[in-house]
Amino acid sequence: MIATLRSRINGHLSIPGDAGWDLVRAPWLLMVEQQPLAVLDAADADDVAAAVAWADEAGVQVLVQPTGHGAHDAAEGALIVRTGRLDDISVDVEAATVRIGAGVSAGALAAALAGTGLTFLVGSNPHPSATGLTLGGGLSWFGRAFGLGCDSILAADVVDGTGWLRRVDGNTDPELLWALRGGGGDLAIVVALELALHPAPTIHGGQLLWPAEAMADVLRAFRDISAAAPDTFTAWWHALNFPPLPEIPEPLRGGRFTAVVVTHLGGAAELDELLAPLRAVPGTVMDAVGPVPVERVPELAGEPTEPGYFVMRSTLLNHLDDATVDSLISVIGPETQCPLGVVQIRQLGGALARAGAGGCHGPIAEPFVINGVAQLPGPELAPMMHGALAEMIGSVAGASAGRTVMNFIEHGQAAQWWDQASLERLRAVKATTDPRGILRSNRALG
Ligand SMILES: Cc1cc2nc3c(=O)[nH]c(=O)nc-3n(C[C@H](O)[C@H](O)[C@H](O)COP(=O)(O)OP(=O)(O)OC[C@H]3O[C@@H](n4cnc5c(N)ncnc54)[C@H](O)[C@@H]3O)c2cc1C
Repeated sequence: MIATLRSRINGHLSIPGDAGWDLVRAPWLLMVEQQPLAVLDAADADDVAAAVAWADEAGVQVLVQPTGHGAHDAAEGALIVRTGRLDDISVDVEAATVRIGAGVSAGALAAALAGTGLTFLVGSNPHPSATGLTLGGGLSWFGRAFGLGCDSILAADVVDGTGWLRRVDGNTDPELLWALRGGGGDLAIVVALELALHPAPTIHGGQLLWPAEAMADVLRAFRDISAAAPDTFTAWWHALNFPPLPEIPEPLRGGRFTAVVVTHLGGAAELDELLAPLRAVPGTVMDAVGPVPVERVPELAGEPTEPGYFVMRSTLLNHLDDATVDSLISVIGPETQCPLGVVQIRQLGGALARAGAGGCHGPIAEPFVINGVAQLPGPELAPMMHGALAEMIGSVAGASAGRTVMNFIEHGQAAQWWDQASLERLRAVKATTDPRGILRSNRALG
């Protein structure tokens, strides 16, 4: 049956036993050991349609996976479709819109917007596909100003679960458009996405860094400025634990620090005023805040871009009161042996807390989300790190909302992202777009 598929496509099809198979089948999140039936590097949208039509005939499931940043399970017996060659970007500056192929990375899209005075809802890492990032909600540096990335979806070219390639917009299929705005990748394979862009004529931002001893004071100052800041300003607090590796620059290597990374859609003077309470915390070892061109925004958080063995946990927080700060610091603070590489708290609120414009997700009323991440040399240490993550999440249990944003949901974690009525409506859409359940996503609608 693979021969039939091969005869219908122009892209490259890899199967077990091929040279380089282990590299081809691996996702960015190496912790997930994938054993698919085959991996298609699609040449174009027609390839995707042909592959899904073949899969529908053959009773094979299809998993679209541009990068594997959100890889979740073994994908056993499935056809993985990679979209890297669907890399067109067409920006309409006047209309403030962009059309992207499904393989365009967040970093490539940000680079294409250089000098336009516009931004998309860019996240913390340049490597994920802009399509995957956006379909999974798209929690951006600029979400407080402009909402979730999925709310900026204007239209999409999709291949549904029968292999039908078509355009979805407010006229052709308003129900599927509603579902794509926050429903994830379970409804159809998007081959091209049209997004509204947002004004960002001036961006300032950067990082402030202190030794770990300042962690509690910096966290409290971060919380306090978050409460009063305008929607143009976003801050992310970090506890950082740098490994003693040669590639880490000397002042940081093997050390523990606390940092706040910020962006502001506005001028330097306003930002200086907003940052004054943070800068009042003594001991700053770095203050690298200044103008940031839009193409550099995805690098601000300094996240890894190479594949690796990562473990993560996340929860939304209803508040960050003193008891929560004390409890968290008692588990991850400078006096502890906490092995986690990064604990991050992102400021939410603003437009994120208002209901999405025409999407299937509700507002994110919680003012913060906390993420813990560890990068390991291999899978063996995962149980120990999961223990450390559980301890970290346990320390904020009193403030936890018991859910997180869609893109941060770990496999097996209850979604609680849609209300029951929206979930049922999404399942009804899926029943029409994918009647035989050929499409599988990292966050299945169930
Ligand atoms: C280090 C790191 C930082 C991150 N930072 C952020 C952040 O700041 N904000 C944020 O919101 N998220 C963030 N994420 C989560 C990330 O955006 C999601 O995992 C996203 O799904 C990655 O998209 P991808 O296509 O690259 O991943 P993949 O693993 O390749 O795909 C994940 C899922 O996306 C869906 N999908 C992807 N492409 C398509 C398509 N063309 N059609 C239909 N469905 C599709 C599928 O359901 C697929 O299972 C981060 C993840 C990591 C590991």
